This record gives sequence, structure tokens and C-alpha cells, in this order.
Amino acid sequence: MKKFNLFSLAVAGMLALCVFGCQKKDAATTATANQDEISAATKSQITSLGFSTENARKVAGGYLVEGDILLSEANLTEKAETAHLSVAETEQYRTTNLVKALPRVITISVTNLPAVYGNAVDAMITRYNNLGLRFTFQRAAAGTTGQINVIGFNEGPSGGYITLGSSGFPTASGNPYSEIKMNTNPAAYGANPNLLYLTSVLQHEVGHCIGFRHTDYSNRAYSCGGTAVNEGQSNVGAIQIPGTPSGPDAASFMLACSNGGDRTFNANDVKAINYLYK
Ligand SMILES: [Zn+2]
Repeated sequence: MKKFNLFSLAVAGMLALCVFGCQKKDAATTATANQDEISAATKSQITSLGFSTENARKVAGGYLVEGDILLSEANLTEKAETAHLSVAETEQYRTTNLVKALPRVITISVTNLPAVYGNAVDAMITRYNNLGLRFTFQRAAAGTTGQINVIGFNEGPSGGYITLGSSGFPTASGNPYSEIKMNTNPAAYGANPNLLYLTSVLQHEVGHCIGFRHTDYSNRAYSCGGTAVNEGQSNVGAIQIPGTPSGPDAASFMLACSNGGDRTFNANDVKAINYLYK
């Protein structure tokens, strides 16, 4: 998930030195190659999975696409069970793999992050569990790593945006994606991160972990502004969810870019989650 960052535009020149300096010191979280270094074959694989290659980045563990979704090498080559859900024009979700072996409990751990991140994970868990789905989240036992582990990374603004967090999609065997990265750079959430803001971003990243794509994937400019990016629907099926509106809906928790506030499930989001997991 990303946030438009006016500050970074205003002082981009001044900031550039700092950003690059910081990134060099932090090899684990720095993009190791730019888009030009992604091969044509890989770009073609990304496209065939239905994702935009615009601003795709090579990062540790795979390729970061659409701002906050990590595609592993395995994701690129596996034959995913796919479904395309159309809720409304700007309420579209596409799942690759889904979480299987339901009902089940999914454990979540938080590693090396300030207390407020753990509190936000707890609040996020409550929001999902209140939906009464066929999976429930719970915190992993202290000192153990959960099936989803939340860790930090530190990355400043780039290109007018800052990455708030990132995650990926379920595995082909039906497990949720196992890692959520949250940006601890002060430009992301400030020196004292707001609990509900963190909660909403975690809610969004967990949405990817269980198979949701961006609501506005067909036009990311809807929530992010800038140039319209439409990566197309790929060769997956389409399933219309009955009883959902046909007009735009600006409040989905899976919009690509944050509004900087506490965005949670709206009525259409709940319909889509229920459709997949209730
Ligand atoms: Zn996202």
C-alpha cells in the first residue's frame, strides 16, 4: 500500500541524497535492480499473471508490483487457481490462489517492531474475526513465528510516493502469504504512528495475504492519482457478485493507495470476503 507524498515532491532534490544514502545502508530493504534490469521474459510472466509491469521492481525474494504486492519466482511460474470477482466498476478483486483447508486458525507474529505495531495487529485481527469467516486469526505464542510474520523495513519516499507496507498472495498449496513488511521510516507514519492508521494498512496487507487484489487494479489512478494504469484482466474467469452496486465506491479497504486515514471494510468488501471465505 502506498501514500501520495507531497513533501517528497517539494523537496525531492534535497531529499534524494538522503534517500539514496539511507537505502544504501539498508541492503535488505533496498530494491536491488530497477525495472530495466527485469528481463523481458520475466515481464511477460508478470503480464500473463494479470499484473502491470509499470514501476515493477526487483526486490529481495521476487518482484514488487502495483506498489505493494510481492510476486515470488514461484508465483511467476505456478499455475494459479484464479477467479476474477467483479463487485462494481471500481470494486474489482482478483484472487490468484486462495487460502485452503478451511476452517482453520492462522497465527500471526510481530517481530522487532515497536509496541504500537503489535497493538495494531491485534486490532486488525479483531476486525477480521468479527466477520465470522471460516478462518480466524490469532497471535502466535510469544517468541514463535506465526504463519504470517509482520516485520519492519525502512525506506524513504520515492517518485512522489512512499510504500507503507507490502505483502504477497497465497501459495499454490493454499497457505496465506507468510510475511508482511511495514515501513518504519518516519515519512510513512510519523514519529508516533497512529494505531488505527497502522491497523487499516495491516488490514489491507492481510487482504493480499488471503488473495485479494487491489479494488482499483483496473485503474490505479482512482486512488493513487497520476497516470491511469490498466493492466487488463488477463485470462482469468469473471464472477459477478449479485446485489452489489454498479457505481464507484471510494471506501474499499483494498484500494491501491491509502487516504492517510482509518479505512476499513465497506459493505461491498464484506460481500466479497463473505463470498470467498464465509
Ligand atoms: Zn496493496
